[in-house]
Amino acid sequence: MNEQNIFIVRYGEVALKGMNKPYFERMLTERIKKLLKRKFENFTVRRQDGLVFVRADKEYAKEDIIKEISKVFGVASISPAVEAESNLDAIGEAAVAYMNELIETKGIQSFKVKAKRADKNFPVKSPEIGRIIGAKVLIGCKVLHVDVNDPDCMLHVDVRADRSYIYQDKIAGFGGLPLGTNGKGMTLLSGGIDSPVATWMMAKRGMMIEAIHFHSYPYTSQRAQEKVEDLARIVATYCGRFKMHVVNLLPIQEAIVQNCPEEETTILVRRFMMRIAEAVAKETGCGMLITGENLGQVASQTAEALVVTDASVQLPVMRPLIAMDKVDIMDKAKEIGTYETSIMPYEDCCTVFLPKHPATKPKLERILESESKLDCEKLIADAIAAKEIVDIKPE
Ligand code: ATP
Ligand code: MG
Repeated sequence: MNEQNIFIVRYGEVALKGMNKPYFERMLTERIKKLLKRKFENFTVRRQDGLVFVRADKEYAKEDIIKEISKVFGVASISPAVEAESNLDAIGEAAVAYMNELIETKGIQSFKVKAKRADKNFPVKSPEIGRIIGAKVLIGCKVLHVDVNDPDCMLHVDVRADRSYIYQDKIAGFGGLPLGTNGKGMTLLSGGIDSPVATWMMAKRGMMIEAIHFHSYPYTSQRAQEKVEDLARIVATYCGRFKMHVVNLLPIQEAIVQNCPEEETTILVRRFMMRIAEAVAKETGCGMLITGENLGQVASQTAEALVVTDASVQLPVMRPLIAMDKVDIMDKAKEIGTYETSIMPYEDCCTVFLPKHPATKPKLERILESESKLDCEKLIADAIAAKEIVDIKPE
């Protein structure tokens, strides 16, 4: 038997890259190494034949290793595997041992062999490999029978030049592209369900993340901010350590409430958030803003309101959730592990000074007129001068 547990890691879209492929492959393996290093010592990560092979000490639980690898963007699937020398006797022996373990642990009764010959110099063709290994398994595991339609175990045999691999499951990864291959974005992170998902989705496309969070302390509590930090730490398990800029919005909200029409409060506050986020983004080398906005979800996310919000900044605003349904966003939040924290009931700065009847079809001219009553530049500069930075490390 193998000294180490072996994991075959496949990358989806990275494999489609042309000239840049080595760069994407290197970024992917570096990221796998980095995540494993946080929890494990004895392992290796190696690229070979368009796959990544992870070998880890047998004492580590396979599930724990898989959990880490599956958080790496760019990974399409993972298979725990066993290896054997590339000859039919050795492969057969390994297959029998592998199946006997599955009989014992999972109670499987039927199987089918799917053989693939990546090494075209191997003297036996794929279908024949399948038949030979199948016959060896039938002899070695008396309780098993072959079922070509609905087998309990699909036994994959992957024959390569120096070593061959046997595996059963393909555990799906998230796909996407390796972190760090697509610029850096400033995400507007609230304590809600949407913005952590939006952040995660952009990071999945390879984007590095920096975050900004607005609060209205003392109207919003310390605990509300801690909740956002908890959420940020969950997001960081996927997108790595990042900075979160924390800005008190209260003086701006008060200026708006005192000087502008009540129904415009929300949209005016949102425009200030965007401008502050843009200024911090430019300072920190972020080329885009990211929000969890979603068409029609609330008054500030109608088509008209989004246009007015956009007009406050020059940087492109990424809204990956724009056309998703709330149930799908919630499913995604559950899948990535942010949902339970997001639904904890803490107040958000947006719910402070919430107008009774927010304008759902704001007109830019009217909004600009309202803003002319405020010293916008000073309000923004003061808010930024007073901001704090929290170092967000993966939980
Ligand atoms: P979420 O569930 O992410 O809070 P939401 O549906 O509650 O979103 P809004 O409160 O209108 O919607 O916010 C829309 C987007 O604006 C959020 O997804 C987030 O990107 C940003 N945002 C809202 N509140 C804050 C905040 N306090 N700090 C930073 N960004 C915020
Ligand atoms: Mg919110």
